[in-house]
Amino acid sequence: MVNQSKTLQTFTGSIIMEKEIQKKKLFTKNLLKWHGTNHRSMPWKGEKNPYLIWLSEIILQQTRVEQGLPYFEKFKSKYPTVRDLAHAPEDEVMKLWEGLGYYSRARNLHAAAKFITSDLNGIFPNEYDQIRNLKGVGPYTAAAIASFAFNLPFAVVDGNVYRVLSRYFGIDEPIDSSAGKKLFAQLAQELLDEKQPGNYNQAIMDFGATHCTPALPACSKCPMQIECSAFQNNTFDKLPVKSKKLKRTQRFFNYLIINQKDKIFIKKRKEKDIWQNLYDFPLIETGSLVEEQNFILKHKNWQRWMSGSTVNIQRVSAPMKQDLTHQRIVARFWEIELLGEYIPEMGNGWLTVIRENLEEYAFPKVIAVYLRQKLLTLELF
Ligand code: SF4
Repeated sequence: MVNQSKTLQTFTGSIIMEKEIQKKKLFTKNLLKWHGTNHRSMPWKGEKNPYLIWLSEIILQQTRVEQGLPYFEKFKSKYPTVRDLAHAPEDEVMKLWEGLGYYSRARNLHAAAKFITSDLNGIFPNEYDQIRNLKGVGPYTAAAIASFAFNLPFAVVDGNVYRVLSRYFGIDEPIDSSAGKKLFAQLAQELLDEKQPGNYNQAIMDFGATHCTPALPACSKCPMQIECSAFQNNTFDKLPVKSKKLKRTQRFFNYLIINQKDKIFIKKRKEKDIWQNLYDFPLIETGSLVEEQNFILKHKNWQRWMSGSTVNIQRVSAPMKQDLTHQRIVARFWEIELLGEYIPEMGNGWLTVIRENLEEYAFPKVIAVYLRQKLLTLELF
C-alpha cells in the first residue's frame, strides 16, 4: 500500500514537472512568435554599436520612451563615439541631460566613458562582467548590452519582465524581496532563447511595455491566454506583488534669487545630497512651507549672507513641486533686489553670473521650469 502511494506521488510529481517544462517552452515560443509581428520600432532597435546601446539604455532607465528619445538623439549627434563623450566638459554633459532627472546617470555615464577611453583604449568591453563593472551599469543594462551588441546569453530583468513572468506563472513572491529577485532572475534566464538572446530580450521588453501593460493588459488577444495563470484566475491586477510601499520625505527649499543689477548668484551643488553637480541658488531649507517674509529674514543663513546689505524682496513664487524617488521637493523662489555694491558673505564656490547667461548652466528641473516659465505667480508682500 505504502509503495503504491509513493509510486502515485512520484507519478503525479513528474506530470506536474512535465507541465511546468511545457509551460516554459510555450512561453518562449509564443513570445517570439508574438514579437515576429508586433515589435516596436525605435531608433536604437537592431543597433549593434555597444556605445549607442549603452547610451539608449541609460537614458531609458526610469524614463518613458517618448521623453528619452530626444535626449538619445541629442547625445548621439553631439557625442557620436565614447571618446567624444569622454572628452566633453562635465557642465556640458549635465546641461544636455537637464530635464531628464536622476542626474547620477549622467555623472556615471561620463565617468564610464572616461574610463573606457583612458583604460580600455576607447574600446567598449565585450564581456558581461566587464560591462557590469562600468559605473552606473546594473545587471539589467549589462544583459541588454551583452545580448544586443554581442549576442551573449544573458536575460534582462526589469519591471516589464517582473510583470509578465509573475502574471504568466502566477508568482506572488514580492519582486522587491531578495528571494523574489533571485527567483525571477533564475526563471528569466531559464526562459531565454540562447540562440537569439538579443531578439528574445527585445521581445519580452516589448511585450511588457505594449501588450501585458500594468493597468490594461490586452488579455483578450493574447497568445499566452491558455497558459497564463493571471488570465485563468483573473488576478492580473494583483500581480506582481511588492512588499514595501514607497515613502517620500518632504523637503522645503527657499531659493533666494538675488539680483544685483544684471548679475545673479549661483553655486554648483557639491555636497552629498540630491542634484550633485547641478547648479542652484542660495538656499534656505526649512522644516515646513514658509508663508511669511520675516521667517526668511530671521534665518541664520540670511543673517550670515546678507547682514549689512540693503535689499528689496520683490516677490515670492507659489510653491512648486518636484518628486524624486524618495523625496518630494517643495520649492519657493524669493526674488530679491540687492541694492548698492554689497557682495553677500556666502563663502567659497559662489559664482556671479550675468542673468541672461543662466541658460548655459544645468539646473534641477524645478529651477529650470521656474526660470523658463518665469512663474512669479503669487505676490505676498
Ligand atoms: S493573458 Fe493577459 S495577463 Fe496573461 S500574459 Fe497575456 S496579457 Fe499578460
